[in-house]
Amino acid sequence: MDFLTMLNFIIVFLFGITVGSFLNVCILRIPMGESVVFGSSHCTTCGKQLNWWELVPLFSWLALRGRCSGCHSSISVQYPLIEAANGVLWMLVYHRFGLSLDTLLSCFLASALLVASVIDARTREIPPGTTITIAVLGVLRLFLHLDNWPSHLLGFITVSGLLLLILFLSGGAAVGGGDVKLMAGCGLFLGFRLNLLAFFLGCLLGSIIHVARMKLCGAGRDLALGPYLAAGVMLSLLWGDAMLGWYFGLF
Ligand SMILES: [Zn+2]
Repeated sequence: MDFLTMLNFIIVFLFGITVGSFLNVCILRIPMGESVVFGSSHCTTCGKQLNWWELVPLFSWLALRGRCSGCHSSISVQYPLIEAANGVLWMLVYHRFGLSLDTLLSCFLASALLVASVIDARTREIPPGTTITIAVLGVLRLFLHLDNWPSHLLGFITVSGLLLLILFLSGGAAVGGGDVKLMAGCGLFLGFRLNLLAFFLGCLLGSIIHVARMKLCGAGRDLALGPYLAAGVMLSLLWGDAMLGWYFGLF
């Protein structure tokens, strides 16, 4: 890898962790119904307002060794993890789509999925703000790939329609309305084929990981589907074409 390419990846990573720090604000405040735009960041234990040097993504947490500079209470490792995860996701997207509008839209999709996943895992609700964001990104991507519009429209209704059916049949026990909206927006974004693959991968991951969690950590039977669906969507977005190519090459 030459120097310029490496520099591009570093820049994408830095943008990624910066937006990641905003995602932390979303993850913290959306479930409490607080504004993600207004109100300055403060320590959740002592209320101390954070200085600019305490708000540098990833590096502040490391420099402070995970403790508030005011009350020395520990700051959750979740903050730097979310920032790093968003940075890595953005680099993967950039690696997949290069310098393009697809990269821009896909980076925001990855970030919205990250927020939806963490909040769903915590509260068992996928906030409407994230599914609306994903739907808007989906519409934008439809216009970006207008030659392929039937696939994107079909993607909008297939998996979400199936989930909607399961929702009604199970009385909301197996899937939630948030999952339906999530897969509708992601279908618009990915198109029909990749969205089906995303759903398949999500269910596969969900059943493997959740059974392991039930066995090893005594997790309950019911699971938040959102994080697994989101992981499936990212896998399908990044490597779906390669996976399908390999699979159909077998015949
Ligand atoms: Zn504090």
